Amino acid sequence: MWYWKKLSQEERKTRIQEALLENINFIEDISLGYPASKLDGQVFYDAPFLKEAPTLQTFVANPNHIGCHTLGASENVFSGTHELEREVLNVLAVDVFKAKPHSFDGYISPGGTEANIQALWMYRNYFRYKKEAELHEIAILASEDTHYSIPKGANLLHLDWIKVPVATDTRAIDKNALEKLVIEAKQNGKKYFIVVSNLGTTMFGSVDHPEDYISVLEKHHLDYKLHIDGAYGGFVYPFSNESSTINFSNPNISSITIDAHKMLQAPYGTGVFICRKGLIENVLTKEAAYVEGMDLTLCGSRSGANAIAVWMILFTYGPNGWFEKVSVLQMRTQFLCKELDRLGIVYFREPHMNIVTLDATYIPKSLAAKYHLVPENHHGDNLWYKIVLMHHVEVEHLTTFIADLKAALLCLKTN
Ligand SMILES: *Cc1c(COP(=O)(O)O)cnc(C)c1O
Repeated sequence: MWYWKKLSQEERKTRIQEALLENINFIEDISLGYPASKLDGQVFYDAPFLKEAPTLQTFVANPNHIGCHTLGASENVFSGTHELEREVLNVLAVDVFKAKPHSFDGYISPGGTEANIQALWMYRNYFRYKKEAELHEIAILASEDTHYSIPKGANLLHLDWIKVPVATDTRAIDKNALEKLVIEAKQNGKKYFIVVSNLGTTMFGSVDHPEDYISVLEKHHLDYKLHIDGAYGGFVYPFSNESSTINFSNPNISSITIDAHKMLQAPYGTGVFICRKGLIENVLTKEAAYVEGMDLTLCGSRSGANAIAVWMILFTYGPNGWFEKVSVLQMRTQFLCKELDRLGIVYFREPHMNIVTLDATYIPKSLAAKYHLVPENHHGDNLWYKIVLMHHVEVEHLTTFIADLKAALLCLKTN
């Protein structure tokens, strides 16, 4: 660990208050030029307790983190909290995802959707500018279990998405089908591939093997860039599977999305985008002249309080504390799986993830509704329901659910 450590409450408070002092203070400093201020004091008044709650204090101070703070200059009036955003990125890129220090760019984005679209946008432009690719020569390659932010991005960016089928039971990429699709795409004039490999799919928690894509694309001598969508699994998998190589130690992996507002329980608006140096310049908007430094992001203004919230969580737990938290969730997941095995219920679980996806034929609709299980499909045929073993999902709740399920299954059998 280069950057990540556990800090005491007092240390965290001091660090954030120092950062806020380095930022502009809209009350005390004269600042005439920004369409920005602290939050409206009629509503968000400076209560004395805020001094003890540094994240809320930052929220009220309202720093703007517009732009990217790992490259070039940034708005100097918020330099204090920008530094803390960089600390978060250092922890995630270097300590968690094994990048070399100072070898990456990134930012805290509004969410995983933006981070994924940022990646697609960056690679599309990379192929356009650096390889003189035509739009129709570029395709996105991702599995059928991929999050819908990828088809959303494909639509925005006018790119084709080649949807790779997965096996029904293992949710693993069908490598033969992948190769067939790639050959077909090549015949249809596709030369450049943007691969999105999942580090935890939303419905199953399944983890794609980046090597499946790499081996097929290299076999056919095709140009590609590889993005990891770790929005779901980014704060779990690297801790539950410490020998994981789905990180920047693999030279073929160029970027990663991670969501802090899922497993890390950060407030919404805390996606994370990280990429290797030399890529993010492809999305520079030259027209962003009023912003100090370069705007290399999809969104414009964004709250600095979100960066501070993630910083607070990371430095409250420290690496060992977070490992312990993930381990507890793993134990609860194992408990649930054991009970399901006992009942002979068919389910999918990636062994390093805290998600269990149940075959819907075993689950009465009323039970799914009672326990707020999320269906794969809210509209047509629903084949699966998932249970996500979050912090608030305790063994006690699981045993209640299992007892209910047992009773329901008995009813089915006797009828
Ligand atoms: C949730 C999720 C996203 C999108 O994240 P938002 O933060 O909701 O925009 C992207 N990919 C995966 C795998 C996800 O689970």
